Amino acid sequence: MLANLFIARKTLDHGFSLFAKETVPLGTIVSFICPKCHTAPLKNVKNTEAIKNLAYSFVLGSKVVTPCSDNRFTNHSCTANVLFTRFKPGVVIAVQDIMEGEEVTCDYRAFGVMPEFNCFCNTENCMKNTIEIDLLGWWESRINVALKELKNVKQPLLESLTSVQNTLLKSKKS
Ligand SMILES: [Zn+2]
Ligand SMILES: [Zn+2]
Repeated sequence: MLANLFIARKTLDHGFSLFAKETVPLGTIVSFICPKCHTAPLKNVKNTEAIKNLAYSFVLGSKVVTPCSDNRFTNHSCTANVLFTRFKPGVVIAVQDIMEGEEVTCDYRAFGVMPEFNCFCNTENCMKNTIEIDLLGWWESRINVALKELKNVKQPLLESLTSVQNTLLKSKKS
């Protein structure tokens, strides 16, 4: 499920992309994996070639996820403005202010499957230029800064997220 703050648009040079309809402040929960998202066990997908062919899907832990909403159009940047937190179920958070009209990007390196990925993001931290970056530490510090703002910004997804989490907790108990 994606917060109603974004719109998918076709771009001239890289297919469909996701853009902010309004300014989205640092710390906003952008999306999460809801019951309507399609998930399949990774072991059912035979090889990385097959994963690459699953357009608009990504690998998270032991699952292949196809989001139910337009967040499937999120493109990669090595300096992403949204990142997956370590919280379940698959919560994505804005790790910097995203300006109205700005493209939303996540870091595909978090999915761990990109043997021949050529990046053209051209950001300062592009893996093409900087291979020695401590990715996990860097992501962690950006996520921690975002989490501090969690309660200070509007959270359009909070209610749906809480109800999904409650359902998950209940199903675990039974
Ligand atoms: Zn969903
Ligand atoms: Zn890059």
